[in-house]
Amino acid sequence: DTSETRPEAIRPARSAGGSETMRPAPRLLLVVPCYNETEVLETTARVLGEKLHALAAAGQIQSSSRVLFVDDGSRDDTWEKITRLASGGAGGVKAADSGAEDSAGPSVFSGLKFAHNRGHQNAVYAGMMEALAVGAHCAISLDADLQDDPNAIDEMVAQYRAGSEVVYGVRSSRATDTAFKRGTAHAFYGLMSALGTHTIPDHADFRLLGRAALTALAQYGESNLFLRGIVPDLGFRSSKVFYERAERQAGESKYPLGKMVAFALDGITSFSVTPIRMIFWLGGASFLVALLAAVYTVVSVLGGAAVAGWGSIMLSLWLIGSAVLVSLGIVGEYIGKIYLEVKHRPRYIVEERV
Ligand code: UDP
Ligand code: MG
Repeated sequence: DTSETRPEAIRPARSAGGSETMRPAPRLLLVVPCYNETEVLETTARVLGEKLHALAAAGQIQSSSRVLFVDDGSRDDTWEKITRLASGGAGGVKAADSGAEDSAGPSVFSGLKFAHNRGHQNAVYAGMMEALAVGAHCAISLDADLQDDPNAIDEMVAQYRAGSEVVYGVRSSRATDTAFKRGTAHAFYGLMSALGTHTIPDHADFRLLGRAALTALAQYGESNLFLRGIVPDLGFRSSKVFYERAERQAGESKYPLGKMVAFALDGITSFSVTPIRMIFWLGGASFLVALLAAVYTVVSVLGGAAVAGWGSIMLSLWLIGSAVLVSLGIVGEYIGKIYLEVKHRPRYIVEERV
C-alpha cells in the first residue's frame, strides 16, 4: 500500500523571496467549464477579466493571458454569450478596463463548445488540453458560478512562480455546504483513502497546473476521467492554497444527487479494483462458515443431537457458495488487470531532464 508515502508529494513551495529561483511571469489560461450558466456568465467574465488585468498590471502574469469558457453542451444561451464576449474585441487583458486604448485587439475571452453535455471533468480536461495547444505556461480551472474564490488566483500564481507545478485550491471551511453534502463528502474522501487512492480532502477542481503537469495529464488516455485522483497521482511538486468557498452567484447547482453519486462511483472504480477483490474475501469468509458448520455437525453427531439432513444441506450450501465466490474473485482479478491495462495510463512521468 503506497498511499502512506504519497502525501510526500505535497510539499510546500519554496517560500516566497528567493528571487533567483522565481519563474518568470507566466502566460495564464483560466479554464471555466459552463453548463447552462447564462445567469452568471457575464458577472464571471467581468470578475475574471478584471482579475487578469490586475495580475498583468502587477507583472505577475503576461498580458497575453486569457479566459477560456468551455461550454459543456449548454441548452440555454450560454454559448451565444460566450461568442459575444469572445468577439467583444477589447484588447488583451485590458478588456476589463472600460475604455482601454487598444480596443481593437483580440478579446481576453475565448470559447470552446461541446456538441453535447459530456460532464464537468471532460470540460475541465478539454480546457487544460487547450492550454497546452495555445502555449500557456499554466492553467487554472475554476467553476463558472464564482464559488471558487478568484482572489485565490494571486496566491496560486505566486506558488507557481515559486516552483510549484500543481497548486490545489482547498476550502478552508464547508460552511456554505448543506450538512448532507458535508457528510457525504467526508465519507467519500474516507472511502477513497481506504481503497488506496490518494485525493486531497476538500479540494474540488479549483487548481493550477503548469505545463509539465499538463503534458503529463495529456498522456492519460482513459475516457472516464477522475481528475481529483489523477492529478495527485502525477507526483509533481505541489502546494495548497486555502480559500473560503462562496455561495453560488446565480442559477442552481448543475450537480444534482444522481450526478454526484455517479461521480463518486467513477472516482472509486476508475482507481481501485479493491471492490472486485472483495468478492474473493467474501468467498474466503463463506468457506470459514462452511468449516464452522462442519465442526458443529461433527460435534452434534458425536453428542447424538444431530438433526437429520442439517449437516449435508448446510455444508453443501456454504461450500458451493464459497467455491462460486472464490471462482468469481479469481475471474475478477483478471478482469481487474484487463481494466487497468485498457486505460493505457503512462507507466511513469518524467519530471526533468538535465
Ligand atoms: N458543469 C459542467 N458540466 C456539467 C455540470 C456542471 O461543465 O454537466 C460545470 C458548471 O457549469 C460549473 C461547474 O461545473 O461551472 C460546477 O458545477 P456546479 O456549480 O453546478 O456544482 P456544485 O458547485 O453545485 O457542486
Ligand atoms: Mg457550484
